[in-house]
Amino acid sequence: MAATRIWIKNPLAIFTANQLDAAGGLVIENGVIAEVLGAGQQPSRPCERTFDAREHVVLPGLINTHHHFYQTLTRAWAPVVNQPLFPWLKTLYPVWARLTPEKLALATKVALAELLLSGCSTAADHHYLFPGGLENAIDVQVEVVRELGMRAMLTRGSMSLGEADGGLPPQQTVQQGEVILADSQRLIGAYHERGAGAQIQIALAPCSPFSVTQEIMRASAELAGKLDVRLHTHLAETLDEEDFCLQRFGLRTVDYLDSVGWLGPRTWLAHGIHFNPDEIARLGAAGTGISHCPSSNMRLASGICPTLELAAAGAPIGLGVDGSASNDASNMILEARQALYLQRLRYGAEKITPELVLGWASQGSAQLLGRSDIGELAIGKQADLALFKLDELRFSGSHDPLSALLLCGADRADRMMIGGTWRVIDGQIEGLDLAQLIADHRQAAKQLIAG
Ligand SMILES: [Zn+2]
Repeated sequence: MAATRIWIKNPLAIFTANQLDAAGGLVIENGVIAEVLGAGQQPSRPCERTFDAREHVVLPGLINTHHHFYQTLTRAWAPVVNQPLFPWLKTLYPVWARLTPEKLALATKVALAELLLSGCSTAADHHYLFPGGLENAIDVQVEVVRELGMRAMLTRGSMSLGEADGGLPPQQTVQQGEVILADSQRLIGAYHERGAGAQIQIALAPCSPFSVTQEIMRASAELAGKLDVRLHTHLAETLDEEDFCLQRFGLRTVDYLDSVGWLGPRTWLAHGIHFNPDEIARLGAAGTGISHCPSSNMRLASGICPTLELAAAGAPIGLGVDGSASNDASNMILEARQALYLQRLRYGAEKITPELVLGWASQGSAQLLGRSDIGELAIGKQADLALFKLDELRFSGSHDPLSALLLCGADRADRMMIGGTWRVIDGQIEGLDLAQLIADHRQAAKQLIAG
């Protein structure tokens, strides 16, 4: 039986993340893009279905490269609203240590639903909490990702340096190195898909210089090399972290990264703010990716990522919303707006365009995750699409549709297609009772804080 072909016809505007003219739309077949049509062009042969996109701005499905889904349970919690990173973490760790599989499942579903409705089709999560009873945290997340039909890069995070040994996290939240490595290997074997169209991938992600040992950093890099998966961690987020590295290791952050075998193209880093010119050159030469997280960096007053210097040096740039205790929204299209404005403060209005920022949120983010099958609209790429309508009050009077998405503050996709399947229709996630999810998640969040 021949596959159904669907023509996404004549969009109001379309951003391909490359130079292709796609004004005539896209033809989707077998979950991938089969044709890219220029202005006035027709599909090469008839399509069984046509979706009239004359009211839609079409983007590649956006790709989030840094998050902590579990943190949706601790959004806008009064004790940490006005704290910078280190005290913020120390106040939250004991609360997070009470996480259970049921609560993590709800938190994951809320984060993914929120991302999906904001135009995101692929999400990375950095999960590093495995308290007693939650040893199967990543398995729990895999189930939720499958249920929603999104793509995910689930990173097996870790913490192994507790307070007793000079680290930041309390002792009950850290694991032994052997346990971390054995579970990492198990998860890659059980879930990591390779090749075009992968739905679930696993990466290794020791949490940060101040919460893991050098041994686990080195061992994770070796295991990732052996099993060919990616590496992720937080780096150069704050000056407190830089001071910690100088005091404990006698090294600046990039020297530390290099010393444990992480400075390479397999690695992508969250934040990447406090680098000197020499470090930027080394990161670029190594092809190490940077996940820019503007809202989180503004909320915790951490600093501004030097995106243009990093990109000029050769480091791929992607976008991340970061965890919901430091953003506290998981909204990719609003994060692109935030990146546009924060980066304009650093580089000026002429250099930071909507196209540049949307490119970070799509093609750049795909590079960070090591994927060439998503993040742009071209023949052979996965049919992951985000469609936005400009019919709300906030868009009234706007002229250029693509700019309007960011300048007028689009916050919700009208439709989402992932691998050729509609997952969001008329702003609603297919098969999800959102009201019930919110009720359950609220209850879980209250319980978690109450202890
Ligand atoms: Zn983070």
